[in-house]
Amino acid sequence: MQKKVLYIDFDSTIANAEKSICKIYNEKYKDHEEFTEAKWREVKDWTFKYTCTLITKLYENPSEKIAELFGSDEFFNNLTLYMDAERVLKKLNEVHDVIICTSATPANASRKVLWIEENIPYISEVIVVINTGSNGVGKGRIHMIENNSVFIDDHPENLISTKAKEKYLFKYKDTLFNQNWDGKVVSSWLEIEKIFCEESES
Ligand SMILES: [Mg+2]
Repeated sequence: MQKKVLYIDFDSTIANAEKSICKIYNEKYKDHEEFTEAKWREVKDWTFKYTCTLITKLYENPSEKIAELFGSDEFFNNLTLYMDAERVLKKLNEVHDVIICTSATPANASRKVLWIEENIPYISEVIVVINTGSNGVGKGRIHMIENNSVFIDDHPENLISTKAKEKYLFKYKDTLFNQNWDGKVVSSWLEIEKIFCEESES
């Protein structure tokens, strides 16, 4: 089995960003009279308008407000990995080259890199595309043209913008933006393990 280069997205692929944002929201807005609890499994888009409803109601530019939360200390203090992600990442890293590829605002980028160093220190390479906009999709994704390169991302637009040989949509749950993808799909880290670790044991 040949060693592969695996480029893996960070937010909503490795780390459960929605869960962290909902936790901050529930804490910050719980005393507002129109508050209803935000549940991360129900997040459908990057303005969180169906889940963190007060953000759309109270702020003129909701996606800017969400981007601000993404760059906050609270976001990284509450951030957790998806189930099995830590164990599988470690295992993948032993058999393949694993590179995290992510887009970020400057505030988010600096904290994100430190979070990665602290929580998944065995990942030695991180590509950060600085995106000062707040739409969460980096237009300038790297063209991954190496032989055997694989790209795993939760956003179809990011997958489309690369030239990776194998592209996998990480679809942990349904969202508004992940419906129109007819390529390969993985829905958990156990599936990623099955494809890229068991393959390499044979
Ligand atoms: Mg993502």
